[in-house]
Formats: sequence, structure tokens, C-alpha cells
Amino acid sequence: MKKTILVFLFATFIVENSFANLRPIYLSIELKPVTTAANTKNIIQWNVVFTNLDSIGHAIVIPSSQNRGKRIIQLQWYKVTSSGSGIFPSSGDYYEQVYVDPIELEMDTSLYRGYPSIVNLEPKESYTFPIFLNDRNNQLKHVKSSYLVPTLPIQDYEVLVHYNPYTEPLSQHFFYHREKGQFAPDSLNRLELPLGGIYSNYTTIHMQKDDFNTDLFFSKTCSKNCSVCRCIKQKKWKKLRKHFEKKSSDLSHSRVLHEFPGPDGVLDVLPTYYSKNYIVLTTNGVQHISVTWQIGKIYKTAQFFTRILYPIFRKVVFPYTNARISKLKWIRAW
Ligand SMILES: [Zn+2]
Repeated sequence: MKKTILVFLFATFIVENSFANLRPIYLSIELKPVTTAANTKNIIQWNVVFTNLDSIGHAIVIPSSQNRGKRIIQLQWYKVTSSGSGIFPSSGDYYEQVYVDPIELEMDTSLYRGYPSIVNLEPKESYTFPIFLNDRNNQLKHVKSSYLVPTLPIQDYEVLVHYNPYTEPLSQHFFYHREKGQFAPDSLNRLELPLGGIYSNYTTIHMQKDDFNTDLFFSKTCSKNCSVCRCIKQKKWKKLRKHFEKKSSDLSHSRVLHEFPGPDGVLDVLPTYYSKNYIVLTTNGVQHISVTWQIGKIYKTAQFFTRILYPIFRKVVFPYTNARISKLKWIRAW
């Protein structure tokens, strides 16, 4: 009997939803907290996951280094008051919004002008990036750290993430929404997204007292006296070079919180530089570092002879560049 009711409720839910929105959405957003415990003091990492549900590739807009304008990724906190009998908990639940991130970014723009960027997603591909709550050191500098746990009474909350890229002018090239009664497909093959953006499901967050003191990061494990983690902890960037110089650098370390994807391509004019950004955890908290390699080497003497001999032979006699050379140049905190 109970099963029948559930099936009926589920069917009603599906029918209602399909009437409300006939158009499928081909992008999903998820909120994945590294830990579901939160307080207003400890730095907390949550991950945001985008998945392209379409059968073709799409480009999406992410906050990246944005430091002005409207927030693309916003957290919304809800208090749930249950008035149900307990058998069907969701039937009488009342969700009250108790906190939402300010939509206008309040960040330091005196140093540089940052911009959102684009991520290409293949069909069914996902892209994950972290946000850090209570990271007050980086709050005004890095958009990923511009989130706070609100001061709220201690109880459980339901939190969701709202993605609204339309507030960013760049988005018009990658997203579109249909007006009512408009049926023609988009001629630019952009991703169709509702005008108000999309929302994740709710995630239950347990609010804790501020003296709650556990390391909220260590989800990945490496050996206790891991040399890489020790270098990061003590901010010994020079010593860390040794690790990055290795070809197959395994970065599944507990102190490497995130590795950003590198640039799509590099200039074919050699030599050139290639940089990748990482978020690491030092004794002073969350730190953004940038690692730069030089790709390619120009052989001066060969280049000289090539310049002289080219007009005669009409071809490059001595190869004067080597693209296979990749040399670690520097690791910098920023
Ligand atoms: Zn390690």
C-alpha cells in the first residue's frame, strides 16, 4: 500500500514537473561538500560540479578570476521547518531562505582586472572546481574564496548552488533562452539555459559551534611524512620544484586542494611559457600558486646558420628549435 502511494506521488511529481517545464536542460550543477560540517571560522572546501548532459559538446562560463560584476555562482541557505507527520517528510516541509551570497561581488580590483573564463565540455563530461568558505585571507583576491558561512543558529541547513551566467556579458555567446512561443533552434548552436539560470539539489549542512576544530580538508590521503606535502605546508617552493620537474607528477596529495586545467594550446613560436595554477594548503591557510614551464629551446648558432643558408637552399638546413624541451621555470604564490 505504502509503495503504491509512493509511486503515485512520484508519478504526480514527474507529470507536474514536465508540465512546468517542457524543455529539458542539458547542463547539471551539483554541490559536493568535502565535509558537511560547517562553522564560521574554519576554512571549508566545497566542490561545484558541472556536467554536460547533451550529446554534443558545449562551452560554459565559469567564474575563474572574475573580480567584479555579478556573482555567477551563488550559495543559498535554507532552514527547513517540518510540519509533516514524519511518514512523508517532504510533504509538509517549509523551506525558508535564511542567507544568500550578495549578488554583487565585493572584491579588490586595484591590482588586476579579472575575468570569467570558458570551459569546453565534451558530451557527458564534467568539470569540477572548488569554492572555499571562510577563507578570509583570499576573500577579496580570489573569487573562489569569496564565500562565507553565515552566522546562523546551530542546526541543520539545506544549501544549494545557483548558477546564473546571464549576468555576465560573455555568456550571450554560449547560452540562449527561448522566448515563449519561439520554436526555431538556435543558429549558433549555443546551450539552451533558462533565463534565471539553474540550481543544484539541496545538500544538508550541519552547522557546528565555532570551537569545533577538525581539519576539514584531508579527504585525500598520502603518507604521513610525505615530502611534497611537507614542502607545501612550509611554503618551500624551491624544494617543491623537484616534484614538478618529474614528468608524471602525481598530484593526489592532501595539501593539493585543486589543480586547474592548463591552457588549451600554446603558441607554436618557440620558446614559449606554459603556466598552471594550483590551490594548496600551507600553515597560513589556503594559497594559490602558479607553476610555469618553458617549452622549447632555440639553438642560437643553428639559428644563425639557418638565417644565412635559407636564401641559398630555400629550406631550413639546421633545425634550430626543439619543441620537446620542457623546463620548469618558477613556482610563485599569488
Ligand atoms: Zn602528500
